Amino acid sequence: CKASLEVQEPSHRGTEIEVHGLSQKVVGVLGGGQLGRMLCEAASLLAIKIIILDPMENCPASAICHHHMIGSYDDSATVEEFAKRCGVLTVEIEHVDAETLERLEKHGVDCQPKASTIRIIQDKYLQKVHFSRHAIPLPKFMEVDDLEGAKRAGDLFGYPLMIKSKRLAYDGRGNAVAKSEEDLSLAVNALGGFDRGLYIEKWAPFVKELSVIVARGRDNTVLCYPVVETIHRQEDSFVDKFKIMKLATDVAYKAVSSLEGAGIFAVELFLTADGEVLLNEVAPRPHNSGHHTIESCFTSQYEQHLRAVVGLPLGDTSMKTPAAIMYNILEKSYLWIQGDRGFDLANQIIGRALRIPGASIHWYDKPEMRKQRKMGHITIVGPSMGTVEARLKSMLAEETTDGK
Ligand code: ATP
Ligand code: MG
Ligand code: MG
Repeated sequence: CKASLEVQEPSHRGTEIEVHGLSQKVVGVLGGGQLGRMLCEAASLLAIKIIILDPMENCPASAICHHHMIGSYDDSATVEEFAKRCGVLTVEIEHVDAETLERLEKHGVDCQPKASTIRIIQDKYLQKVHFSRHAIPLPKFMEVDDLEGAKRAGDLFGYPLMIKSKRLAYDGRGNAVAKSEEDLSLAVNALGGFDRGLYIEKWAPFVKELSVIVARGRDNTVLCYPVVETIHRQEDSFVDKFKIMKLATDVAYKAVSSLEGAGIFAVELFLTADGEVLLNEVAPRPHNSGHHTIESCFTSQYEQHLRAVVGLPLGDTSMKTPAAIMYNILEKSYLWIQGDRGFDLANQIIGRALRIPGASIHWYDKPEMRKQRKMGHITIVGPSMGTVEARLKSMLAEETTDGK
């Protein structure tokens, strides 16, 4: 006990030793949703300070970040003001004011990943052009300005056709499928018309959707996480399983290497019946399909993103558990109609998960339950894929026998 009561040398008295955890850089994050919240959780382990810019006063990250500036990440003056308070600027959403970021970068603001990367990625058509120039395999695509152009795409690619909004797309809400030429104008109108900025993709006849989380350090080291398999269920919930797939990893590695800046990138891929891997899209940030890394990998995608943007060495991306599976808790439309039932069902799943070995519950504390929103997730780890699948089944079995 005595040994710890060291008397300070007079020369050290009064000297302020600033302790900033593992990095002296304050990390500014544009967006304060669940991804921002999980970045803050990881930052607390490293004692890295995160400040958030988000318009919503009670956004998921607000309760646990170092500071929350309330304002729009799509407003030039606000982003500029926010940047003054940050050592490094990063994003948890790609729909931010990229033009302002490019201007700030010219004035010495450190953006990671680079503003050019955000600009390319936030416009899906530009993204496709970029990756095709880098010889990344993609579904065929074509810009369209009018119905005649859409018909030409149909003649060229066949049906069904995937029509997509170039910008501001998420959770599939900027996509519409045309099953035949007759469907085209309906699909285009559903997306808000050609003025919104649309392009067309050839239908990708995939047998599986895969995702690879890729980390890039400031020294351009690129590390890939194990491949995740995404399974959609009843259109409103999905489960992730994963196994190693070299081809997917190679495509993801090459795609991320073609972009500039440090951070986590998520590469969404299609696997076709004949074993071809095509790139769907890239997100320049942590991603839903990488949540499992919190419990199943030595370095989570969130800690890795922080390490990357502040310039620490990247951590180990390998798994520390033999198997893992992740279940998204989504607000479901039919439950939305029934009001409080949405919370009831989520509570039932969480109640069962609390008793399941290897299950970790994440609740994002979103201020309101909106239709189809991601409210939380549960990761289950275990000694084998069979075991985690059985645990997942027991967590969900009662859900389906709940009288619906
Ligand atoms: P998010 O950002 O939430 O992943 P998003 O709104 O950006 O979604 P996409 O990823 O482009 O949308 O597409 C959503 C889903 O639509 C894909 O995961 C896939 O299931 C399907 N899809 C997209 N493009 C095609 C295509 N060319 N052919 C067949 N299916 C497609
Ligand atoms: Mg997307
Ligand atoms: Mg997507």
